[in-house]
Amino acid sequence: MALDIKKMKERLGNQKKGSNVFFSVPKGESIIRIVPFFPNEIATNYFLHYGINKNPAFLCPKRTDGEYCAVCDFASQMWKENDPESQKMAKSLFVKKRFYSPIVVRGSENEKEIKWWGYPETLYNEICGICDDPSYGDISDIENGTDLILKSVLVGKNPFPKLSIKAQRNTSKLFTDISDEECKKLLGNIPDILQFLYKKTPDQVQELVNKCFLSEGDAEEVSKETRKYSKSSKEENLEDEKDDIAKAFDELENGV
Ligand SMILES: [Zn+2]
Repeated sequence: MALDIKKMKERLGNQKKGSNVFFSVPKGESIIRIVPFFPNEIATNYFLHYGINKNPAFLCPKRTDGEYCAVCDFASQMWKENDPESQKMAKSLFVKKRFYSPIVVRGSENEKEIKWWGYPETLYNEICGICDDPSYGDISDIENGTDLILKSVLVGKNPFPKLSIKAQRNTSKLFTDISDEECKKLLGNIPDILQFLYKKTPDQVQELVNKCFLSEGDAEEVSKETRKYSKSSKEENLEDEKDDIAKAFDELENGV
């Protein structure tokens, strides 16, 4: 089979484009501005699974499209085993809720480049606290919005930095050196975050679980379960699933 170099290059190009779209939080202080994108909201959120066999984070098929997710299922089983080691592993596999806001980064090479910033729910709640404070109002307003000071510090032996946020004292214009029309054009061309998040089909997720966690016999059993679930999953109301496991997700998120 001949290699399709053109297609491969295209794919590489896309990946590169995708990876540049995300804001990677540097150590220390950054000044960012959330730009208007969602009606009456500063962010959208998705549920992802992280760090499985060095795979990049991917969208949970269950929480995203209401389809079967073998990772969620496997993590629930681990959780129910009720011993500390299994529960620790289950926690690392549970879906993580991630919020995404389009931002500009003050003082960056290109201050008009709009990036997507992904962050945990705790930080989202902190930002909502600022939005609810009448002295700030709509922090993403183009004319009278508010920049945010994001601080990232390493605490103790924790390898993940602790993020904190506060608002600048004064309101400001989003851009001071371009026309309203140019500003409108920039904001109108923000690509949807969803196209930069990895998606796997329920079968691909199952394959990943089989490969990483199950012996061959177990994998066959689970594959039968998958078929059973696929039939009924569409009728299932995801909201009803807030059980102990969901509470554990929340606890985990709050600890991030
Ligand atoms: Zn899942």
